[in-house]
Amino acid sequence: MADDDKDRLGEKLRRKEKAEEDRFFAERDQELLERLRRQKSAGQPEEPGASPRMRCPRCGAELVTVPHHGTTGAECPAGHGRWLDHADLEALAARERDSWLGRFFHRPRR
Ligand SMILES: [Zn+2]
Repeated sequence: MADDDKDRLGEKLRRKEKAEEDRFFAERDQELLERLRRQKSAGQPEEPGASPRMRCPRCGAELVTVPHHGTTGAECPAGHGRWLDHADLEALAARERDSWLGRFFHRPRR
């Protein structure tokens, strides 16, 4: 066999090994991701009324739910603000139609 052919064969083998290696790692990563996903969904039960991903836009702290005049608001534990979702906001605004809040948020559909 000529040296050239040997080199070519070696190159072919290296490429084959590399491809198998890549597949191995891809499959392993897939498995790890799958396991992470399973762990996540089996993890802590979600607090009712609060998305666990709601975080304060200023400090990043996880918001805590606070009952607020019959609605459920989310509040930054460091006092940066309070958030109401759209349904809560509408309910409040409809009830407080004569207040600044109502005038600001309640827009009856025409
Ligand atoms: Zn905050």
